[in-house]
Amino acid sequence: MSVGQVETFEFQAEAQQLLQLVIHSIYSNKDVFLRELVSNASDALDKLRLESLVDKELDADTSDLHVELAVDREQRTLTVRDNGIGMTRAQVVELIGTIARSGTAEFVSRWQQAKQDGTAELIGKFGIGFYSGFMVADRVVLVTRRAGETEGTRWESAGADTYEISTVADAPAGTSVTLHLKPADEDDHLHDYADPAVLRRIVKRYSDFIAWPIRMREPEADAAETLNSMKALWSRAAADIKPEEYTEFYRHVSHDWTDPLETIHLRAEGALEFDALLFLPAHAPYDLFTRSARRGVQLYIKRVFIMDDCEALLPEYLRFVKGVVDSADLSLNVSREILQQDRQIQTIRRRLVKKVLGTLKDMLAKDPERYTGFWREFGQAVKEGLVNDPDNQAAILDLVQLASTRDPARPATLREYVERMKPDQTEIFYLVGEQRATLENSPHLEAFTANGVEVLLLDDPVDAMWVDMVGDYDGKAFASASRGEVDLKTESDQAPAAEEYAGLLAWMGARLAEKVKQVRLSTRLTTSAACLVSDALDASPALEKLYRAMGQDLPKAKRILELNPQHPLVEKLRAAHDERGDDDVLAETAELLHAMAVLAEGGELDDPAGFTRRLADRLSRTL
Ligand code: ADP
Repeated sequence: MSVGQVETFEFQAEAQQLLQLVIHSIYSNKDVFLRELVSNASDALDKLRLESLVDKELDADTSDLHVELAVDREQRTLTVRDNGIGMTRAQVVELIGTIARSGTAEFVSRWQQAKQDGTAELIGKFGIGFYSGFMVADRVVLVTRRAGETEGTRWESAGADTYEISTVADAPAGTSVTLHLKPADEDDHLHDYADPAVLRRIVKRYSDFIAWPIRMREPEADAAETLNSMKALWSRAAADIKPEEYTEFYRHVSHDWTDPLETIHLRAEGALEFDALLFLPAHAPYDLFTRSARRGVQLYIKRVFIMDDCEALLPEYLRFVKGVVDSADLSLNVSREILQQDRQIQTIRRRLVKKVLGTLKDMLAKDPERYTGFWREFGQAVKEGLVNDPDNQAAILDLVQLASTRDPARPATLREYVERMKPDQTEIFYLVGEQRATLENSPHLEAFTANGVEVLLLDDPVDAMWVDMVGDYDGKAFASASRGEVDLKTESDQAPAAEEYAGLLAWMGARLAEKVKQVRLSTRLTTSAACLVSDALDASPALEKLYRAMGQDLPKAKRILELNPQHPLVEKLRAAHDERGDDDVLAETAELLHAMAVLAEGGELDDPAGFTRRLADRLSRTL
């Protein structure tokens, strides 16, 4: 497109919705628009410095990188300008124009749901900082030129349904965002953002730690004044840092507007020196399990920003941790690939993992309620570490909280479970499945409940996997309540008459041979007629399902049908079989018993229509 020609675009419907949310609902405090724009400018300066270190050919002036605020009181405009990396036209269209990045629609719908539920502030933020300018302005003009390019791009919008883009010849390097300010309205928390005193206060409050100078030049003054102290927060002594400084820094790195749950400030000295300032967020981002738009830990080398979301610094299961690591002795030329191999990075990573897990352990001991809140948000991710991080498995097991039959509303730690075990109990019993309600009412629990033996209810997909791999906790083996034989070591006053049932069991085993491996008497049922269990060495149905979801086809293991000899239906079936031997009506009853066992554990029938037909036949005969 040629210089001067203006193209008009329409925001997509979903972008418009997002825009309306930003303008009207997301932030109650309008001042934060400046934090967002300064934060973007600071990122752009970081990127330019890094780019010029790596790419010696890049023709960019990095001698005086800074952010500048300029006000025009007459025109009522505020301009936030940086001489950073800038954007190409394509980037303006992609990053600024469309806002149609993955997850936008999901964000909007979640937000609306959360607002209905009254939990609006509970969700992590989507990258919408730039648009917060529309809270205070009725028109926004962005002019930018990418380092190394000759032409610039101008973007303008009134924040309604359209925006305009044109190519400009004479744009300075970097980006300027000019806000045409709405009239101040103190009732609406809309201050006069053309007033230097107001800007001074906001920068000090939200952006003091920004490592680049944020300058303001008042129209009548000769020299620009620098508004921020520019001290990298992580390099200051923890004792001198105020809680609100940590909070603002957290917001800067995380783009989350809620307060962090926990701040971890670590300074390593000696052979390997580094500073780390890490935060545990209070709430899980909506995309914790979708792997998009991650913002984890930033890597700095001697105060120079190197990269966002440095996955080499923390394992995947701690991906929700935010913050900064600054190391003194790495090369500025590092790439992500090299980092994974770097011995120093590996050492830093080990230290950080220990520190994070240790902090969580302390929180669990000292403030269990807060910890439970943390676990509710992030426990599902942390449990992945039981599978992926064998070195820290023991430490993670101490952090796990699981639902239990003792009080389904109160999760239990494994330590608590073990302390509550019955004197002669040697195993930690659990039941895996997909739905908590199905688990709570599962027939597999009947004998456990009757004998007062606690069972852990594992309903996260990842549970099926780790519980199989981990083996034991504190020397007590994990044992599934729906696998193998259970021996609750209770004196059974009514020992099932094995011989009496031998004939029925053998006959049913043969009749149901296509569906089950074996039919046997149960020691785990008290009220239900039948249930299905897995053979001791077979994978649980939950694990099979998990593997199938990951694209690995595990052969379906046949299960064992267990009958409750105390149940009238089973007793009568035995009597009828003793009398009549094999016949089709009895065989149908056997099929129905099997189908009932499948349904009771939340399973799916191979032939649901056949089942209902048979059941309807039977019922109609009772009327
Ligand atoms: P985010 O929360 O991702 O920063 P924004 O809407 O604030 O969301 O910005 C979107 C993207 O636009 C940024 O990630 C960045 O790539 C680009 N951007 C915004 N402001 C600037 C700027 N001043 N200089 C260069 N790029 C910018």
